[in-house]
Amino acid sequence: MPLRRPAVGALLVVGAIVAGAVLASGGSASKPRTGSVPTESWQGLVGSPRGDVALGQRMIVVMRAPSLALQVQRAGGTATEEQERHWTAQALSAQQDVLLKLDTKGIFIKPELRFTRTLNGFSAALDPSAVPVLERMPQVAGVFRVRTGTTPGGIPYYIATDPKVTAASRAVLDKVPAMTDYFVGLFGPYPFGSTGAVVDHAPKVGYALETQTKPLYDSPPDELTVSHELAHMWFGDSVTLTRWRDIWVNEGFAEFSAWMWSEHTGQKTAQAYFNRYYAKKADSWVFNPPPANPGGPADMFDGSVYERGAMTLQALRVKLGDGTFFPMLRAWYAAHTYGNVTVPEFTAFASSYAGRDLSAFFQTWLYDEGKPTTW
Ligand SMILES: [Zn+2]
Repeated sequence: MPLRRPAVGALLVVGAIVAGAVLASGGSASKPRTGSVPTESWQGLVGSPRGDVALGQRMIVVMRAPSLALQVQRAGGTATEEQERHWTAQALSAQQDVLLKLDTKGIFIKPELRFTRTLNGFSAALDPSAVPVLERMPQVAGVFRVRTGTTPGGIPYYIATDPKVTAASRAVLDKVPAMTDYFVGLFGPYPFGSTGAVVDHAPKVGYALETQTKPLYDSPPDELTVSHELAHMWFGDSVTLTRWRDIWVNEGFAEFSAWMWSEHTGQKTAQAYFNRYYAKKADSWVFNPPPANPGGPADMFDGSVYERGAMTLQALRVKLGDGTFFPMLRAWYAAHTYGNVTVPEFTAFASSYAGRDLSAFFQTWLYDEGKPTTW
């Protein structure tokens, strides 16, 4: 999650399913491979010489008609095989109705992948003339634009956007491949099979989420948010907390990573972020509650977990020096990839790796109330 946004879970399932569908469609034989071609190659074309169709662009059409999962849920959670076949046929039939209606308007869409189980819809090569027609159809819940390709470092990406926010999201989403490759260099191998983003037009949701492989955004995100959510693939989604009170091992690390991306790209340095927040008063939200002692569920996602949490890592970086700090982070990640961790495990690991007792440092930065003054 990004900083200081209310936690709500309702749309997570839909986002994950859309992302899964994107992944599946990306595996089709007709998907263009960009290989070592840099991100600028998105200007290439698929199928027809149309300026508004970039290389690898796809659309995912989500139907209002129920998926198999929704039908099973409505039936009380169980279903016979015969019922499942019937509901699957119904879902496919709803898709077919839409395709036939498009056909009568002279728009011929050939789905690459149809899905019915957890979400009802299909993916196809992007036809910009079809998108507004589809969006006006009462049977259609939404149309996502998808771009696929491979980062310069060789990681496949899938980026889906609601057409309403495609243009506004473009500049920052263009940086997703480079961000992913940068964090590989900083932390270690990418833990999953693909990277990307799903940007919806759902501003009332009010937060973004580090959905595995394709973080979910409710509106066009800023660069700090995208780098934060992508860093969660390493810290949060791969190396993840064991207990909620240890949320710092997810959020503090993701926020610090976003500062590092900023520094790497010649924008504000991590130390500049540190200085900006450190200038706040001791009773500021920046310092309270302490990041590894947030107190309870209501304060778990407080700003201090993020900003004082990231400051903790920047202070540690300065204390140890880049030559120890970053190898230590890489070793931490390597030791706990796909694993569960606690704050005490990290603080013990850092002390052990650095060969010095850092317990007073971590006590000050992670557990003590108020503003750290000496460390
Ligand atoms: Zn987060």
